[in-house]
Amino acid sequence: MATNLIQRGLIAITGTTGVGKSQLAIELARAVNGEVINADALQVYRGYDIITNKVSSEEMLGVPHHLLGFVEPNREYTVQEFERDALLKINDIHQRNRVPILVGGTNYYIQSVMFRKSLITTTSRDPGLQDAGLPGVAGTREFDLLHSAKSDQDLWEELRAVDPLMAEKWHARNRRKVLRSLEVLAATGRLHSEWVKESEVAREKEEVLRFPTLVFWLYADPPTLDKRLFERVDKMVDRGMFDELSQLARDLADETALAGPSGDFTAGLKQAIGFREFGPYLAAKSAAATDADLELLRLQGIEDMKLSTRRYAKRQIAWIRNKLLPECNATLSKSVTAHPYVLDATDLDRWDSLVKAQGVDIAKQFIGGDQRLPDATAISEIAAKLLSEAKEKPNSVLAWKRFHCPICSKTAEEARDGVACEVWLNGQDEYNQHLQSRQHRKNRTYRKRLAERASSSGGNVKARSDDENRD
Ligand SMILES: [Zn+2]
Repeated sequence: MATNLIQRGLIAITGTTGVGKSQLAIELARAVNGEVINADALQVYRGYDIITNKVSSEEMLGVPHHLLGFVEPNREYTVQEFERDALLKINDIHQRNRVPILVGGTNYYIQSVMFRKSLITTTSRDPGLQDAGLPGVAGTREFDLLHSAKSDQDLWEELRAVDPLMAEKWHARNRRKVLRSLEVLAATGRLHSEWVKESEVAREKEEVLRFPTLVFWLYADPPTLDKRLFERVDKMVDRGMFDELSQLARDLADETALAGPSGDFTAGLKQAIGFREFGPYLAAKSAAATDADLELLRLQGIEDMKLSTRRYAKRQIAWIRNKLLPECNATLSKSVTAHPYVLDATDLDRWDSLVKAQGVDIAKQFIGGDQRLPDATAISEIAAKLLSEAKEKPNSVLAWKRFHCPICSKTAEEARDGVACEVWLNGQDEYNQHLQSRQHRKNRTYRKRLAERASSSGGNVKARSDDENRD
C-alpha cells in the first residue's frame, strides 16, 4: 500500500444537467473505493424521481449513495443543514478508509462543503460586505436622526466625498447601503472600504479549503447541450411528469412551513423546473378548461420549461467559471489545494473514453497521492480554453462597479405605466450576463427600429447605445 495515499481527500463533480455527472460518480466510486454524496438541492427530497432526475437503484450498481431522497417534500431543507449533514457523511466515509465523492449541480451546496466559509458570493446582488470583518455597528438612534432628513442623493454625495470607493459601488437610491457605509465610518473611525480591503487580505492568507479536492467539471458544448436539455424535457413529459407536478401541488397546497406569499417559488421542491412553468396548465386542468385551451397551455408550459432549463444551465456554468474556478486557483498557493479538471461530455458516444476513462485515471492518481497530477490543460482543447480563461483569484469586492443599461432603462414618457425605470447591474459579470439576456437583446432591437424610424421621418430621437459603460 502506498504510504503517500492522500489523506482525507474529496472528489467533487459538477456541471449542468445532462452531462452524466451521476454516472461518472458511480464509475469513480467503483474504481477508487468511493461512496457518493448527493449535492443536488432537489434530489435530497423523497419521491418525485422524474422532476428531480434521480438515478435509479439499478443504475447505482451497488455503490452507496448518501443524502439522496431522504427529506419529506413538504419540509424546507436548508444549505446549513446540508453542510452539516454532508460533513458528517464525509467524516464517516473517511473513517472507513473510503473516498467521498460529492456530486451535483447545486452550486451553493458544493461550495458550502468545499470551502470553510461562504467565500464565494452566491448572489452578486449582495457582495456580503456586512460580514467583512467589521465589528458590530448597530444603527444608533442618533445616527438615524441625523440623517433621516437628508435626501438619497445628498447622502450619496456625502459618502462619495469621504469614501469614493464605496460610493462607486452603491446607487444613490440604495439608501440602506449608502447609510451603512457612512455608519461604519462614524462608528469605527475608519472607512468602510478599508475594512473590506483588510478582510480580503486576511482571506488571501486563510486556509479556506476543507479537504484536498479533485474537481471534475463535466462540460458540453452549449448548442449540443441545449438540444439535449430540450429532448430531456420532452422525455420527462412522456414519463409522467404532469402526475408528479399535480401531486406536488397537492402536497404543498396546505403547507404552512413553506408558505411564502403565493407565487413564491424559492423554497424546497418548489424550485423544481416545471412547477412554475406548468402552473397555469395544472390550474386550468382542475378548473375543467376546454381541450383546446388546455393543449395551448400545455405547449406553452413545455416551451417555458425548456427556456428555464437552458437559463439554469447557463447560470450553473457562469458560477463554475466566475466563482468556483477562481476559488480553486486561489488555493494553489496554500497547503490544502483544489485541482480542477474539465472533462468533455459533448459527444455522448465518446463519453466512455473522454469522461469515464480519463476521470477514473485522474482520480486514481489523486487518491494514490501522486504529486504530479496530469496537466489539466493538456486533457483536451476545450479544457485548455476554459481553464486558461479562468481568473487567478476571485474578484475583489472593491472592484465591483455599478453598471447602467441605457438600452433597458425607461424614462417616464417611455414607460407604459408612466413610471421611470433605471436598470442597474452590480459588477462586470452581472453586466456581461445582462448584455446576453433576451430582455436586453429585445430592447436593443426595439431601440434600433425606433431610431431607424425616427431618422427616416426626419425626427431627432437620440439613439441609445451600450457604449456608456465601456472603459
Ligand atoms: Zn439592457
